[in-house]
Amino acid sequence: MSHPTPEALAEAACKELSSLKSRTVPLTPRDRLGIPVQEMPTQDPVVRRRNVQEVACGYTPEQAQLESMRCLQCKNAPCVQGCPVRIDIPGFLKLAADGDFEGACNTIKKNSLLPSVCGRVCPQEVQCQENCTVGKALKSVDKAVSIGRVERFVADLERETGRTKAPVIKPPTGKKVAVIGTGPASITVAADVRREGHTVVMFEAFHKPGGVLVYGIPEFRLPKRIVQAEFDALTAMGVELQTNFVIGRTRKLMALLDEDGFDAVFIGTGAGLPKFMNMAGENLVGVFSANEYLTRANLMKAYDFGRADTPIYRTGKVAVLGGGNVAMDAARTAVRLGADEVHIIYRRTEVEMPARVEEIAHAKEEGVIFHLLENAKRLIGDENGCVTGMECLRYELGQPDASGRRRPVEIKGSEFIREIGTVIVAIGNDSNPLIPRTTAGLGTTQWGNVIVDDKGKTSLDRVFAGGDIVLGAATVILAMGEGRRAAASINELLRK
Ligand code: FAD
Ligand code: SF4
Ligand code: SF4
Repeated sequence: MSHPTPEALAEAACKELSSLKSRTVPLTPRDRLGIPVQEMPTQDPVVRRRNVQEVACGYTPEQAQLESMRCLQCKNAPCVQGCPVRIDIPGFLKLAADGDFEGACNTIKKNSLLPSVCGRVCPQEVQCQENCTVGKALKSVDKAVSIGRVERFVADLERETGRTKAPVIKPPTGKKVAVIGTGPASITVAADVRREGHTVVMFEAFHKPGGVLVYGIPEFRLPKRIVQAEFDALTAMGVELQTNFVIGRTRKLMALLDEDGFDAVFIGTGAGLPKFMNMAGENLVGVFSANEYLTRANLMKAYDFGRADTPIYRTGKVAVLGGGNVAMDAARTAVRLGADEVHIIYRRTEVEMPARVEEIAHAKEEGVIFHLLENAKRLIGDENGCVTGMECLRYELGQPDASGRRRPVEIKGSEFIREIGTVIVAIGNDSNPLIPRTTAGLGTTQWGNVIVDDKGKTSLDRVFAGGDIVLGAATVILAMGEGRRAAASINELLRK
């Protein structure tokens, strides 16, 4: 399939926009439905296999304007119902369609603190864009208005042109809040609480802040300079950041309240505990959790051969077990680290894959090989304890399970061997257990998620929580929504 160049897409958009602008009568809904969907310009797959630069290059101003003009300004705005933080989508698209990109960005920022991030990583096709009237009229969710891409464009433009406004901070209150973790839930809490004039200190176990945005999601999907810009804004607001600080080890949570003078604590420690398959051979050399593999490659910069010291295990054939975004990120990272072949092994079909459609398509373009209805049964090693192969089983789909997806059923006697030098297990994550284990009285579910009430408050007085530690592995925008709710409760508590 030919790959349209960014230049060709930009030129087509310029022509289309100037023809629409030359019209003397207003656009009808029918005209709007006829405006072509603006494709996201991307790096050529052959080139990007060997670099970590962002795959999606972003819209030009003309593309952003044209895409916004496709919006029908529906009165009931079903798109807004699909956005977990209820951004005024028709409102910002109207401004962008009129060329007021600054106004569009300001509208988004009333509800979302990280539009550059969410515009890139939100699973829009199952959120805001799923119910878009344009997509329904054109009978394909792929033809819905590309809300996320316009959101990304206006937010990037604001940052890149240095027009980001510093928020107004109320006078000091003398109250102090500890925020544990620095992922999207914690970033939201820190900003919302600091704006009220409270002192905020963030504690992060790693040497760099950002949570999964920095250690998990690869550079080629979310450039780290964007996350860093958010932290620069937080520190400019006066938020204090303590890295290499593990709450539960360096300091216990209750000591923050009882001895260190904090008035409230927010737990945003995420779901960073990898799940394993518990099969024979999982301890062999060359078997990784996706978390470890991605952390080495991203946060520890193993991709930067020759300049970073972080070792990474490199072999010709890599197998990734799983079908979610994490599996796609691990597979596409292995491609960039120079593997000859990267295989995704998934026991259902592509329809049931939880990964975003766009990530699956990008992985295929980059040469990742998909083996569906197949799973690993045991791993095989050599005399040095290194993984050399994998015994696999074939599957078929049975009746739907509790999740509504059809259950994979083993085909008896279908075992066969695949030769493999590296195995990356990407079948999900559980909540980080350290704080619940070291904090008496903190209520958790049987899966280790912290239990909160409808205001984000835990079973302990003055202790709040949100994000993946509460929801289990979820999404960036849901973590931000949780952070916003907890921050409102903390601000209310501290007003008393
Ligand atoms: P996290 O982002 O997990 O941050 C938690 C932070 O707390 C971490 O920095 C951790 O080091 C720190 N911490 C943990 N314990 C302690 C402690 N005891 N003391 C101090 N600090 C501590 N979501 C999407 O919406 N779209 C995507 O495309 C997407 N892709 C993903 C790809 C990968 C590889 C992964 C792993 C996740 C992905 N997600 C995606 C999910 C999303 O990133 C998470 O839902 C989100 O980051 C959760 O935010 P959080 O603030 O709850 O926690
Ligand atoms: Fe869509 Fe996410 Fe933006 Fe909401 S925050 S409008 S779900 S891209
Ligand atoms: Fe616009 Fe689609 Fe939302 Fe309607 S549903 S307001 S067309 S983005």
